[in-house]
Amino acid sequence: MSQAEVMTGMVLKAMPIGDYDKRITILTKERGKITAFARGARRPNSQLLAATNPFSFGEFELFEGKSSYTVTKASISNYFRELTEDLDATYMGFYFLEFADFYCQENNDEREMLKLLYQSFRALASEAYNNELVRVIFELKALTINGEGPTMYNCMHCKSRDNLHTFAIRRGGMFCDKCKDSVQGFQIMDGTKYAMQYIVSSEIGKLFSFTVSDEVLAELVSTIRQFVGHYVHHKFNSEAFL
Ligand SMILES: [Zn+2]
Repeated sequence: MSQAEVMTGMVLKAMPIGDYDKRITILTKERGKITAFARGARRPNSQLLAATNPFSFGEFELFEGKSSYTVTKASISNYFRELTEDLDATYMGFYFLEFADFYCQENNDEREMLKLLYQSFRALASEAYNNELVRVIFELKALTINGEGPTMYNCMHCKSRDNLHTFAIRRGGMFCDKCKDSVQGFQIMDGTKYAMQYIVSSEIGKLFSFTVSDEVLAELVSTIRQFVGHYVHHKFNSEAFL
C-alpha cells in the first residue's frame, strides 16, 4: 500500500464511472495534471460529492496506483459557487478549464497555470470585471506561460523599441513604422498595445488590476481572438456556448 499524498489543486473535469464513482482530472501544484478515481463520489452522502466537481479548489488526499490515483479525502477552500450561479460566467469558466486541460501535462510544473485559473475565476466572479476582458487576459497569459506569447516590447525585425504601432499575427508580435511594410500586419491603438504588454509581462497576482475603454476592449478582443485562432490548433467544446 502506498503512502497518502496531499496535493493542492483544482478539479478540471469529472466523468461518471459506473453507478456511484467518478474519474476526475485535477491540476495540482505538486504533480501537474493528474487523473484520479473517486470511489462513491456520486453517492448523496459522500464527503467527495461536491469536492470532486469542476472548479473545486483545495487539498486532496491521494494514493498513487498503477495507472491512476485514488482520491480518498478532500478539503475544499473555494468551490467558486458565486461563479456557478451566473450562466455566462459558468460557460466562460468551463472554457478556461478545458483550455488548461488541453495545455497542461502530468509531471510538469503547472503552478503558473493553476494560479492563472484561480485568479481568472476570482475576476469572473467579481462584478468589477467585464467577462470578455477576463477572457482575453486569460487566453493571452495562458499562451505566454506556454512560451507562445507575442513579442510586444520591440520590433521583431530591427529590435527598435520605438514607434511600435503594427501587430502581425503570423509573425507573433510588433513591428515598428520603418519595418511594417515588410509584413502583413495591422495597426493597433496604444491602449491595446499597453494592455497586451501588461498581460504578457505582469505577474499573475497583479494581472487583474486594470480596465480599458470600450474602444480598446473591442480591439483587444478582435486582436487576441485572431492570435488564439492562429496559434491554438484545437476546437474547444465549451467555446460553442460563449
Ligand atoms: Zn523595426
